[in-house]
Amino acid sequence: MNPATKTGRAQIARKAREHGYFHDRDNFTIAVTCPLCREKVSGAEPRYGESVTKALDALMDAHLLHDCEHGPQQ
Ligand SMILES: [Zn+2]
Repeated sequence: MNPATKTGRAQIARKAREHGYFHDRDNFTIAVTCPLCREKVSGAEPRYGESVTKALDALMDAHLLHDCEHGPQQ
């Protein structure tokens, strides 16, 4: 799984979700643990009717591109 490619990031995001994710309905946030750096990546929950899965994958994609210590920038 290569975090420098879109396909690789999608695979990593899927793997992250398979390990479970958090949906805090009181604080309107979602979070998932990055399988590469073990950081908890969190963000706003999707709007009503939108996919939590897609929102989690978008969070992971941004994390891998910009924040992850094992991402392509580092
Ligand atoms: Zn990471």
